[in-house]
Amino acid sequence: MKKINCERCGALVNKDTIALNKKLISKHTKEFFCLECLAKYLDTSVEALMEKIEQFKEEGCTLFI
Ligand SMILES: [Zn+2]
Repeated sequence: MKKINCERCGALVNKDTIALNKKLISKHTKEFFCLECLAKYLDTSVEALMEKIEQFKEEGCTLFI
């Protein structure tokens, strides 16, 4: 699988975070943010985003496999 780096800081973006980008920004987004930059972008906290990832997994969201 192709490695994806954060658009802002260049950090490696993991699978769950990519799924979260798709879920919170757009399914068709080509630009991805790491958790920290995504938190800043959405004006929230990294902790809140991690909770969201867990929540989406529990809901069985197909992006998070
Ligand atoms: Zn970043």
